[in-house]
Amino acid sequence: MTVSRALPQREVPTIGAWCFLDRFGPQRTTMRVEPHPHIGLQTVTWPLVGEIRHRDSLNSDVMLRPGALNLMTSGRGISHSEYSAGDGATDLDALQLWIALPDSARHGEPSFESHDDLPHAVLAAEEGQHAEAIVVMGTFAGTTSPATAHSPMVGAQVRLPAGTTVRVPLERTWEHGIALIDGDIRVHSGDDGSLPSPAEGDILYLGCQRDAVTVTSVSGARVFVLGGEPFEDDIVMWWNFVGRDHDEIVEARRAWEAREDRFGHVVTHDDTRVPAPPMPDVRLTPRRRRLGSR
Ligand code: MN
Repeated sequence: MTVSRALPQREVPTIGAWCFLDRFGPQRTTMRVEPHPHIGLQTVTWPLVGEIRHRDSLNSDVMLRPGALNLMTSGRGISHSEYSAGDGATDLDALQLWIALPDSARHGEPSFESHDDLPHAVLAAEEGQHAEAIVVMGTFAGTTSPATAHSPMVGAQVRLPAGTTVRVPLERTWEHGIALIDGDIRVHSGDDGSLPSPAEGDILYLGCQRDAVTVTSVSGARVFVLGGEPFEDDIVMWWNFVGRDHDEIVEARRAWEAREDRFGHVVTHDDTRVPAPPMPDVRLTPRRRRLGSR
């Protein structure tokens, strides 16, 4: 299975609390991600094409379809598996994002939510047609997702018709990025003029201190707008874990390898699971949050 990673990057470890963005697909494949653990994060699974079966250690067993959100909150520990639908190869394309949990939530109980009725917002056209947004997480253009967020944030998919220009509203005190899912965009800011155009699969990092950007698409595009209040803590990310220091990660890895109760058991699975990779020889150090300078 081909996976391309847009976050974290060397210069941009987090955007708000968003700390990870992978795209798997578009491709024809059989997805079999066997049970594996998480700590300290929420996973946002956002299918674009195909169906994904999610099972976890809270006895969730859910089939996820495009337009619906799976939101898994690990708290102190959870495990899950992700399979494409059916036995054979299938067309699959999806985003998976991680949100770092603040201290107030990262030691708490795990939970799982599925939302298939997310609210929409409309961005009025400056040229062409209006753009429709699905508000996946947090608040965008005055519309708030019902999904549980633990810090102020936005995650929204926006579809721009061909030949359209819209104003994308942003929160001045938050940092933001725009991930280009497909199509073409040009991004313009009243302060900075034209910004670099992201390629498909890339994120244009916008930093803080913006009220809005103007986005134009010639041939049509889908983008994912992500952002939030700059995340205060320096985080340590290793494998499927988000923590604050090396020792916390070592302990989570030990508990998974020892099959301790912390991560539970994924419903209807046997003992098959993803083993943790060995720890590196060096101590893990935090990713420094780049302050939202442009
Ligand atoms: Mn996972």
